[in-house]
Amino acid sequence: MTSTGQPPERQGARSLDPHLRRYAARAEGMTASEVRALFAVASRPEVVSLAGGMPNLAALPLDSLSDQIASIIADEGLTALQYGSAHGVPVLREQICEVMALEGVHGHPDDLVVTVGSQMALDLVTRIFCDPGDIILAEGPSYVGALGTFASYQADVRHVAMDDHGLVPEALRAALAAAERAGRRVKMLYTIPNFNNPAGVTLAVSRRAEVIEICARHDVLIIEDNPYGLLGFDGQIYPALRSMDADNVIYLGSFSKTFASGLRVGWALAPHAVREKLVLAAESAALCAPTLNQMVVSRYLATHDWKGQIKSFQTMYRERRDALLTGLDQHMPAGCTWTKPDGGFFVWMTVPEGVDTKAMQPRAVTARVAYVPGTGFYADGFGSRQMRLSFCYPPPERISEGVRRLAGVLAQEIDL
Ligand code: PMP
Repeated sequence: MTSTGQPPERQGARSLDPHLRRYAARAEGMTASEVRALFAVASRPEVVSLAGGMPNLAALPLDSLSDQIASIIADEGLTALQYGSAHGVPVLREQICEVMALEGVHGHPDDLVVTVGSQMALDLVTRIFCDPGDIILAEGPSYVGALGTFASYQADVRHVAMDDHGLVPEALRAALAAAERAGRRVKMLYTIPNFNNPAGVTLAVSRRAEVIEICARHDVLIIEDNPYGLLGFDGQIYPALRSMDADNVIYLGSFSKTFASGLRVGWALAPHAVREKLVLAAESAALCAPTLNQMVVSRYLATHDWKGQIKSFQTMYRERRDALLTGLDQHMPAGCTWTKPDGGFFVWMTVPEGVDTKAMQPRAVTARVAYVPGTGFYADGFGSRQMRLSFCYPPPERISEGVRRLAGVLAQEIDL
């Protein structure tokens, strides 16, 4: 690695870039994620990809959806094809409040902004709150897309340890104390409490009030990112942090995993006082989220058995999770450990000392299996003995085969 955190070969490519002198300082933090770099190899048909995090949409009712899209245009006319308010389509905002009520959140539709996926909501929140150099606390490991956003705003990301029950409150206290001793201000805690991407773990309900209390005491805003919350495999739904503190938590939600990721419809529910800034930021970023897509989601929620659809997603992902965990139990060499998610898309595996998951990756691809090395999920270079395994996309028998291949590669690596 070089001083810019890029491998030498990429630096070489950049130095051929005639615009190099022109980039803003914030562009320096924008580098291709490990996940994106893997897409090309992982999508080869002979490779079992345990790398991607794409939701499996095969169960969606395509025929009725296409009829609905036609009828939206017929019913709404040009309104469906026109700009809308940056706030979002009003009826959809009301429906989103009903969705969040399942997690105990009682938000007002006016405090909610519809965004182009929750990824845009992440961008808006960071834009509003973070100056270059501000500290953002994030679980270690954390969502690669959030780390990319934080880097692009030149935030200083510090990781907070997790265990099998999610973020460790004691580690959060220690991180805040360390920042305070150094005379630094922590702006926000970014957390994915349910079925964490990439760790697969869930913040214990008994810890939730404590995390909220610690952040309130230190005047730190909480960003609760919850795209997987309704994908608990036993139908379990955990109370959102936002349901426990409406003044200090910004809740980010998404239809990407519960309906259709390509529609790019997500949202942010802000404390009332933040709402206006959020709408202004949304306006300057995108004017508005796509009107037609918002109407499609709204019509879907109004006319489809969306809760039944989520149940069938839960069943499908549970089967895939089971295939992955069974394969790991059967095949992984001694010394490997992994999380056991009860929802979401991901398992986080730690391999024995001496194995570097990034260095091993080309050998895994040669053995026709792909995963994401752990370092991409940390802002500080940690994660070389970790990997993310996703079970959302391939069918169970392919997952089993992929785990068998991966175990073979690991066994060889350990023997070296
Ligand atoms: N947060 C997390 C934790 C995610 O895993 C993802 C997608 N992989 C997102 C946010 C972004 O989701 P979207 O923009 O599709 O709503």
